[in-house]
Amino acid sequence: MKCPCNPSKLYSECCQIAHQNIHAVKNPETLMRSRYSAFVLANIEYLQRSHHTSTQPSQKESKEILNWTISVEWIRLEVLNYYENTVEFKAYFMENGKLDIIHENSLFSKENEHWVYIKGDFL
Ligand SMILES: [Zn+2]
Repeated sequence: MKCPCNPSKLYSECCQIAHQNIHAVKNPETLMRSRYSAFVLANIEYLQRSHHTSTQPSQKESKEILNWTISVEWIRLEVLNYYENTVEFKAYFMENGKLDIIHENSLFSKENEHWVYIKGDFL
């Protein structure tokens, strides 16, 4: 299976590594990619685990995220820029037959000795 975050790589050699062991994630870009792939694969458990506890979605919000991510068709991810603890990306998806793009600058930090997502600013 190709990796959702990058079709030129195998899932088993890309985001699956993160999904199986978040401590293997070495930088925010890899975490961001693994979170995109978790959206595509509807891996809500990983989305929670890779989220900073201070900004983590509630169980109710997680259910809504799950329902939403299953309802859309993810197309691709573009990583535009990355710095020490931020990643700017565009995520393309089809919702109700229309192309939509999430353009976000995401902030990351370390918690429990692994990288986590804190929050994003829409651009
Ligand atoms: Zn990947």
